[in-house]
Amino acid sequence: MATYEESTLREPLGPREANPYATAQEQFDRAAEMLDLEPAMREFLRQPQREVRVMLPVHMDNGSVTVFSGFRVQHSDARGPGKGGIRFHPQETVDTVRALAMWMTWKTAVVDIPLGGSKGGVICNPKAMSQRELESLSRAYIREVARLLGPDQDVPAPDVYTTPQMMAWMMDEYCKLTGRLDFGVITGKPLAVGGSQGRGDATARGAWYTVREAAREWGMDLSSATMAVQGYGNAGSYAALLGQELFGCKTVAVSDTGGGIYCEKGLDPAAVLRHKQETGSVVGFPGAEALTSQEVLELPVDLLWPAALENVITGENAERIQAKIVAEAANGPTSPEADPVLYERGIHVIPDFLCNAGGVTVSYYEMVQNYSRDQWTANEVNRRLDGKMTEAYHAVLDRSRAHDVDMRCAAYLVAVERVATAVRLRGWI
Ligand code: GLU
Repeated sequence: MATYEESTLREPLGPREANPYATAQEQFDRAAEMLDLEPAMREFLRQPQREVRVMLPVHMDNGSVTVFSGFRVQHSDARGPGKGGIRFHPQETVDTVRALAMWMTWKTAVVDIPLGGSKGGVICNPKAMSQRELESLSRAYIREVARLLGPDQDVPAPDVYTTPQMMAWMMDEYCKLTGRLDFGVITGKPLAVGGSQGRGDATARGAWYTVREAAREWGMDLSSATMAVQGYGNAGSYAALLGQELFGCKTVAVSDTGGGIYCEKGLDPAAVLRHKQETGSVVGFPGAEALTSQEVLELPVDLLWPAALENVITGENAERIQAKIVAEAANGPTSPEADPVLYERGIHVIPDFLCNAGGVTVSYYEMVQNYSRDQWTANEVNRRLDGKMTEAYHAVLDRSRAHDVDMRCAAYLVAVERVATAVRLRGWI
């Protein structure tokens, strides 16, 4: 694992395949070249504006003290306050957080909400920690990064292995520090403390709106479509549940860190979720066949949902992907080597920062409700989300057709152009 000291600010450490920051920069460079951006703009946008590392001593239940490392990276606030989640993960690195912060900038730009891009991370294994230890760590993290945060500066949210309860603790800690009820400092909160209706399933719901549009374009009947889901956390489990509820789509396989399961007749997404909550994994679900996570990615299904971590569709397995549409609910699941292979094979990839932008879009609605002390209904939230996602999908699809490029490249062209315009208008470059 790269430590902060080993890594450099300007260039990522280690080989590109293993480093999401290198991937993010390579993707950006391609768009910058096509947009013919001026050299200073490229230099400015291909790395974060601001970043901090913090050390977090936490008193553990057994009486010992563990010192955790965390990061907050602010890639861009050109279009508005920074926005992006906080991950708690054992393999977190500063380069991963940098990549994720960059992708947040393009994500808020592609759906055209007035926010920038940031990300946070703490190196820890939440699965091995008690609730009390997680509360201490959440509060310690916020105390250390608080001076960078604020409803008008930078607004965190949940991400991999962080929950609405943790957002409530973090919000509370921040409010204690400022002495104000700044509920809008963080999103993804529980409803009772300033959360928004619809935030829980927003990432998957937003992704489904883009898949619905793609299915229309390609004449795919979703009610008879099959799908496989890699990762059964928030995005993956809601993708399966909503697929059934909204479109009658059949989930035949899912996987998580423990492995995969398959059932040709279709799995019951809610029952699989209960099994995971009870046993810790989808593996061993009654009546399903065991598969590896790799095999789940390579099944002959209509829709494939990479919904876990980075770099799972690579130059190594891209030839074996058989899905017609890949809906990237995760951030960074496809490597730059895989993209041209999928494109040439006619597989329609809905790229991560477009596909999974529903989460941050409803986070933005949560901020607006917090600012105005208002509460919207779930119908209102979902209606607005549908409008944003549908508009963004078609803006990207039109660009991809106009320039004959894949959807990821088209999404970059739309997003980078918007951010560069803001940078110029503000007179920075
Ligand atoms: N963590 C989510 C993402 O990667 C949501 C971020 C947010 O709501 O700010 O998009």
